[in-house]
Amino acid sequence: MKRNLLPEVEKFLAAQPLPMFVNGQWCAAAAGATFEVRDPGDGGVIARVAAGDAPDIDRAVKAAQDAFRRSGWATLPANDRAVILHRLADLVDKHRDLLAQIESLDVGKPLPQATGFDIPNVAQTLRYYADLSVHTRRREPIAVSGFEARTVRGPYGVCAFVFPWNFPLLLVGWGIAPALAAGNTVVIKPAEDTPLSTLYFCHLAQAAGVPAGVLNVVPGLGETAGAALAAHPGIHRMSFTGSPEVGRQIAEACGRNLVPVKLELGGKGAAVLFEDSDVDAAAKALAGAITLNTGQVCCTATRWLVQQKIWDAFVDRATANLKTVRIGHGLEPNIDMGPVVSDKQRQRVLGYLQRGQQEGARLLLAGGPATVQGHEGGYYVKPALLTGSPDNVCAREEIFGPVAYVMPFRDEAEAVELVNRSRYGLANSVWSRDLERANRVAEALVAGNSWINAHNLFAHGIPYAGCNLSGLGGGVLGPDTLLDYLRPQSVVRPLA
Ligand code: NAD
Repeated sequence: MKRNLLPEVEKFLAAQPLPMFVNGQWCAAAAGATFEVRDPGDGGVIARVAAGDAPDIDRAVKAAQDAFRRSGWATLPANDRAVILHRLADLVDKHRDLLAQIESLDVGKPLPQATGFDIPNVAQTLRYYADLSVHTRRREPIAVSGFEARTVRGPYGVCAFVFPWNFPLLLVGWGIAPALAAGNTVVIKPAEDTPLSTLYFCHLAQAAGVPAGVLNVVPGLGETAGAALAAHPGIHRMSFTGSPEVGRQIAEACGRNLVPVKLELGGKGAAVLFEDSDVDAAAKALAGAITLNTGQVCCTATRWLVQQKIWDAFVDRATANLKTVRIGHGLEPNIDMGPVVSDKQRQRVLGYLQRGQQEGARLLLAGGPATVQGHEGGYYVKPALLTGSPDNVCAREEIFGPVAYVMPFRDEAEAVELVNRSRYGLANSVWSRDLERANRVAEALVAGNSWINAHNLFAHGIPYAGCNLSGLGGGVLGPDTLLDYLRPQSVVRPLA
């Protein structure tokens, strides 16, 4: 397919295979291996990328260790580091259209979503943590009789990150901005499906004046590069965003080295709609939530719990909204939903639809494969709406596609019980005009995040984290996230 890409994007993609970024240098993998990155919108290969493995990870960790000791980054006054991070944020904004095009091409998401949300969010995250770091006290006196004592906080050293493919650069921002602002150095292993925007970001970091070795990116497969990074004894902190299955392996590897780990994992978010909610608004918002990023959003509303009295009205409107979703290639205008990220992901979504029905779920909207004219090789699926038992596989497991599962409930107690059955605990929402009830139910739901009369709410300064199968280690986006990257130490002298 002929794509109308920006000349800078064409130029970036022309340097095949795309190298990795270690110690401020662009380089091939030690073994010379590469892997293919595909456009999910048509299945074609966009790029070949250097496939890092254990020796490359080792080189990157050593470069990050060295930069921590010698580049001056760790010891710069916070406001001087903040100047560099602000410069980087400005460059992200300046290159917004270019980064958004790369992101849309790589993930399949509609271009306006990348331009309007993903990329500006990266700049906002960098600025938020740069500013916060300037105003965070590194020394605090401790008033205990008989001692002169204080707590001091400094960076840990090398922080390692493994990211998924659904919001590649946005999640890089959420992850590394607090680590860098605190004075740490970082090694990133991006998802093999979507490494491109993270690689481009390295050009911007270099231009902003981030010293060599402070930011290192080693693309590669999870089982090789990802596993080598998590198991490396030279890292001081690990942060992983992805599935609970891989999260467990990462935590095990870190446990062996006693490296503290942060896990941001999957979810099976619920939306609870009481009979006094605004049915039209909720039906529109939830159809939007389940098709946002083609349903590949960890915290989105995938279980819709609807009080009996509004069942018919809600299901009619939600189905009507889902039917109007325009599916197409992410870079084409006037689309609402792109493909899923890979053929593997498409098979996963279709497999769940099949298993759900085999276990007795009923299709209110059929979903299934979709074909987009001119992009026949793309990984498209239609939105689906199922109903049935809360024990159905589609009501329990994370599908990560545009598939929602709707269930009726009688009263508040039953709704809370249904939501809290899930082993996940990332995010839920409560929809009601009775704010007293909405607040009560919001607090009764077991998860890191409860939203009222909206779903998928993010703001810098509001912590975002999961519990149970959805994660551990403190989460992201909050002011405390910066402290997660500052090692506390008490300094004490007895007073004679
Ligand atoms: P995944 O767990 O398959 O992969 C995530 C990353 O881990 C990739 O970079 C992959 O290469 C790497 N990886 C795979 N095997 C590995 C191993 N053995 N050792 C080390 N690294 C390994 O997840 P995915 O399919 O890329 O992403 C989808 C999942 O991510 C969903 O469960 C979703 O809910 C979750 N997610 C969570 C959040 C959050 O903030 N809680 C945000 C986005 C995505």
